[in-house]
Formats: sequence, C-alpha cells, structure tokens
Amino acid sequence: MGTIVITGASSGIGAATAARLSADGHRVIGVDLERSDVDADLSTPAGRRAAIQGVSSLSNGVVDGLVTFAGLAGLTRRPGSLLVAVNYFGTVELLAGLREMLARGASSAAVAISSNSTTCQPGVPLDLVEACLAGDEPRAKEIGDEVGSLAAYPATKMAIARWIRRHATQPSWVGAGITLNAIAPGFTDTPMTDEVRRDPTIGSALDQFPIPVGRAGRPEEVAGLVAFLLGPDARFVCGSIVFVDGGSDALLRPDDWPAPFGSPPNR
Ligand code: NAD
Repeated sequence: MGTIVITGASSGIGAATAARLSADGHRVIGVDLERSDVDADLSTPAGRRAAIQGVSSLSNGVVDGLVTFAGLAGLTRRPGSLLVAVNYFGTVELLAGLREMLARGASSAAVAISSNSTTCQPGVPLDLVEACLAGDEPRAKEIGDEVGSLAAYPATKMAIARWIRRHATQPSWVGAGITLNAIAPGFTDTPMTDEVRRDPTIGSALDQFPIPVGRAGRPEEVAGLVAFLLGPDARFVCGSIVFVDGGSDALLRPDDWPAPFGSPPNR
C-alpha cells in the first residue's frame, strides 16, 4: 500500500481511478482545479509549482505512484494553447517535479495519459509535437492557437507518449527504481466525452467512431489498467504505451504496429 498522486482526480477516469486505488487500500492525494486534496491550476507554471508544493507537504516528500489524468478535450471554441498548457506541460512538469519524491518511494511507478487519437486521428500537427518536446511552451502555445484545439489535442497526447518513451529508460527514472509508462485510452464515457458530444462541429461524429467491442469504455475499466501498471505485477513494464480502446486502433491500422527496427520514424 502506498501514497498515490492523481491529477484530474475530481472527475471522470481520474475519479474512478482514485476510488479504485482507495478501495485497494492506497492513500490517494488528488490534484485538480477544485474539490481535491490539492487545488491547483495546472495550466500555469505557478499552478504547477503550487501543486508540487502541496503534494510535498501532504506526502512528507515521499510518493509511491503518480497518475496524470488532468486534461482537456479539443473543442471548436477552446483555444489550442490551453490544451498545450494543461495536457502537455501540466503533465510533464508534474512528472519532473514529483520525480524525486517518487525516487524516495517503494517500487514506485508513474502512468501518464496519452490517447488513441494519436494514431486514429489524421493530420496530427507534428511541429506542435516537436515544440512541446523541445520544452518551448510559448512557441507550442502559439502553434496550438494556430491549429486550434481539435488538432492540438492528439499532438499534446503524441508528445506525452514520446516524452514517456524518451525518459522511461533513463537513469533518473528506471535507474532510480521508478517505472514510467503511458496508457492510450479510446472513447470512454465521462464528462469530457459529454462535453465533446455537445460540440457543434464534432459532436455528431463522436458516436460514429468505430469501436470493435461495440460500446464506449467505462472509467472503471481504464482504472483497472492503471492499478495494474502501478502494482507489483508490472515491474517489468517500462516505457510502454498501452492502448485501452476497445480495438479502435487495431481496426484502423492493423499492420502499423509493431513497427520494424530501423523503419523510418513518423516525423
Ligand atoms: P474529465 O473532464 O472527466 O476529467 C478531467 C479532469 O481534469 C477534470 O477533473 C478537470 O477539472 C481536470 N482539469 C482540467 N483542467 C485542469 C487544470 N487547468 N488544472 C487542474 N486540473 C484540470 O475527463 P476524462 O475523460 O476523465 O479524461 C481524463 C484524461 O483521459 C484526460 O487527460 C483525457 O485527455 C484522457 N482521455 C480521455 C478519453 C475519453 O474518451 N474520456 C480518451 C482518451 C484520453
């Protein structure tokens, strides 16, 4: 049993994961805009610092798990810069800022949240992915506003997946005893998808999205995967992006993965 930090813990999949991990006997420290143990706005550097400080105080500087659910959907009238700030920088700055606390924990693990939009949505703006990975928040926000949040969403989630794969294998992560992985959920019924369903441009398309399992995911199903990745049976899982999407990615691109060693990178 350990202390697990969950961002975005007040709603949707984050709330379901908080409930699952609490029921499993863990102490959960939730971070969210409101109704949480640490209320903080992860869209700003000051809010991210406050979140890290708040977690440090509540945990006495020792954390066993971190899951970064805080995020926003792409919507017609939502600026892309806000998604860049919350989804990408609100994730990687929390991972980096809590890393030392995780290193002090026992058999620690962190799970970031990507999305199957990375591989199932055409036209991901790769210059935005690169700007995020370069750590250039002002430039990434500029591109985010240029492309709009519908296109920015999969780019922020692609950048998260690549950040995880670049860092997971490093001495500061796996070398410090912390396994780092990401999950890529597909369409899961939450307040976020309710919000997308009301969007004037993409709302009507949401329920047309092909899901071989025949229904949307349930937050509890994603929570179960996160519980596994945080637990003792997943200590050999390192740098993986685990899809939990009812088969949508396999349906749309069955032969694209595994990509053979040496195949041209998708840049
Ligand atoms: P949700 O809207 O129910 O929950 C998101 C949470 O993030 C909310 O509690 C919200 O307050 C918090 N948040 C938003 N902006 C914040 C900020 N500035 N600072 C702090 N907290 C903030 O959404 P969900 O569907 O549970 O999504 C959780 C994660 O899963 C997101 O990262 C989302 O992109 C990802 N995801 C969801 C789906 C899906 O179909 N629901 C699919 C793929 C990936």
